[in-house]
Amino acid sequence: MADRLAAALARPVAQQPQWPDPERASAVVASLSGAEPIVTPAETARLADRLAAVARGEAFLLQGGDCAEAFAENTEAHQRANLGVLADMASVLTRRAGLPVVQVARMAGQYAKPRSRPLDELGLPVYRGDLVNSIEPTPAARRPDPARMLRARADAAKAMAVVREFHRGGTDTQALTGGDGAGYVSHEALVLDYERTSLSPDTTGPEPRFTSGLGHFLWIGERTRDLDGAHIAFAELLSNPIGLKLGPRTTPEQALDYVRRLDPHGEPGRLTLISRMGHTRVRAVLPAIVEKVTGSGHQVIWQCDPMHGNTYTSANGYKTRALRHVVDEVRGFFEVHRRLGTHPGGLHVELTGDDVTECLGGARGITEADLPARYRTACDPRLNAAQSIELAAVVAELAATGVTEGHVRLR
Ligand code: PEP
Ligand code: MN
Repeated sequence: MADRLAAALARPVAQQPQWPDPERASAVVASLSGAEPIVTPAETARLADRLAAVARGEAFLLQGGDCAEAFAENTEAHQRANLGVLADMASVLTRRAGLPVVQVARMAGQYAKPRSRPLDELGLPVYRGDLVNSIEPTPAARRPDPARMLRARADAAKAMAVVREFHRGGTDTQALTGGDGAGYVSHEALVLDYERTSLSPDTTGPEPRFTSGLGHFLWIGERTRDLDGAHIAFAELLSNPIGLKLGPRTTPEQALDYVRRLDPHGEPGRLTLISRMGHTRVRAVLPAIVEKVTGSGHQVIWQCDPMHGNTYTSANGYKTRALRHVVDEVRGFFEVHRRLGTHPGGLHVELTGDDVTECLGGARGITEADLPARYRTACDPRLNAAQSIELAAVVAELAATGVTEGHVRLR
């Protein structure tokens, strides 16, 4: 097991911070390795059970939160606001579509960001999330600092305490959504010096693996999913439920390669394929992928991320997304699955309960001119509470519309 982990981590690896002082980084990794896990193996196993139900078409997976958690924003009020929006969306889905909803917060570990370019618009090293460097636009602030992993880890533990408190005792929403009293958390497994530090052997599954104590559900991003690279080899070794982002250049053959690698034993719900195709591409690209994977017999969760394929820069210079594009990608996703008879099983969104103006449109009609007033994100633009609820209403309607005539829902 230790050998397999070492071999995984020795593979070519994308998007890692270049720590200026590798000895200091090793010391931080050693110190993190001694810390208490944030989540328990029992909770993670319970989530895996619930995700199996999603994969069978019996429930819906709702995942959301900030694009990037920021240290300065890690207040209980902010975290509760985000959890509140997620719970409200779940409630809309359950009431209107009659589906149990599995809620997973994008929280308590979402501190590192993959970036497309090494330099920002000022010519400075790009901000890579608070786990790596600071958003302040100075060369000193942009230097990667491994001590930030310690802060991230401490903040993640605090965030998890807020999640537990939020879900304690079973709220109305939980009863409605088939909640089991647990609050589940997830993040992108990106910086492997962080991700390698809370692994414990797990021999309960079909093969010996490690369970990560850093989050219940971990996903691999669009920029780090090289089949020969370290991230996929690392994910293979985890017993936690795994997500994988798939962009519009993914071929059906590649999708099947991922499924074989990440779900070798055919465990329903072990793997969530998170399509983020863009609203103009989803109808053309997704069907062949779904058909190929479904034909293999693997029971994955099909989840739509309608955010990352629909990002653009507004005329006044803000990275933004339009709610109508987000909604259109979700509609396309449902159309594809209804046509193929597969279960459109989940939604993955960037949102916040804070009063922001980062995405365009919605009932309040946010326009480009409104963006500067409350544009607060540390990375990608988030839906605000009103936009999130509007999106949930659309998804609920699509989910309630159910199976079209002549098609059966698989499994
Ligand atoms: C993200 O989820 O914030 C992200 C970077 O997504 P992707 O890997 O799909 O681009
Ligand atoms: Mn993002």
